[in-house]
Amino acid sequence: MLEGLIVKALSGYYYVKPLREGNVVSGEDPSVQCRARGIFKKRGESPLVGDRVIYSLTENGEGTVDEILPRSSQLIRPPVANVHLAVLLFSIKEPDLSLLLLDKFLVHVEHAGLDALICLTKQDLAEAEDDSAERAKALYEGIGYEVIVTSSLEGTGTQIVKERLADQISVFSGQSGVGKSSLLNALMPGLSLETSEISLRLGRGRHTTRHVELIELDNGGFVVDTPGFSQLDFQELGVEELSSSFREFIPFAESCRFRGCSHTHEPGCRVIEAKEEGLIASSRYEHYVEFLTEMKDKKRRY
Ligand code: GDP
Ligand code: ZN
Repeated sequence: MLEGLIVKALSGYYYVKPLREGNVVSGEDPSVQCRARGIFKKRGESPLVGDRVIYSLTENGEGTVDEILPRSSQLIRPPVANVHLAVLLFSIKEPDLSLLLLDKFLVHVEHAGLDALICLTKQDLAEAEDDSAERAKALYEGIGYEVIVTSSLEGTGTQIVKERLADQISVFSGQSGVGKSSLLNALMPGLSLETSEISLRLGRGRHTTRHVELIELDNGGFVVDTPGFSQLDFQELGVEELSSSFREFIPFAESCRFRGCSHTHEPGCRVIEAKEEGLIASSRYEHYVEFLTEMKDKKRRY
């Protein structure tokens, strides 16, 4: 029985990288071009990039995906299975750090059940007196997130990021222009992904992505080649899921007087108290209220 990892899906083919005892063997074994067994279609299933599968070889050097092993997670956009870590990239400058947008990404990452790694990028552009990165680092580390300050230009923090990506599948997220391709290029010299500068010069847009593919690092890690969480609406989220996606609210929310407390006006709300006592950062609380309003406005419109 052969076990493999689907690293690419294109035109009905799955490209399966052989695994040995569940592990990839870096640099070895080119992927095997496979078709999926007909049975998947009948069951309404389809293999995804990131799936661990059982496959068999056919005479022509190709293969067949016979079985999909259980998934630990499944993203819809991009369609990838078994992603473990979302790397959230936010530039300190160009564009300026937006904590509102960072909190929005975090809600979606928490909702998808992924670990988050926050990278504050382009550190070389920060003025000496600009302490926005340090303050953001302290805030999010206090909540329990891992934060790394990076500069792809100067190589700051890039090795630490790379170590965090080992032996798992990660997705990079963040607005366009924050330095996702540059960071990946800095982690893996020789990868040479197009950065926006180059594609603008060539006069074509990026992310006209036709298929999904995993980029293999040399430490057992894989990175999805398409940014995750590009569509940040709250359609798939309920009000209570919003509040539990602010992870530091959870212990307080459990002791709110009313069940289903929205933490906006209710008497005996522990979340509001915690915000007033400084145990919950006011920016986090304000963003929560803003997202809640956004969600309710949307629901009213339908
Ligand atoms: P993406 O759209 O998120 O993939 O961002 P890119 O990697 O294409 O980078 C966008 C722009 O920011 C490009 O002009 C890069 O050269 C620049 N950039 C990326 N990382 C850094 C960095 O660490 N320092 C500086 N100064 N510029 C950077
Ligand atoms: Zn409450």
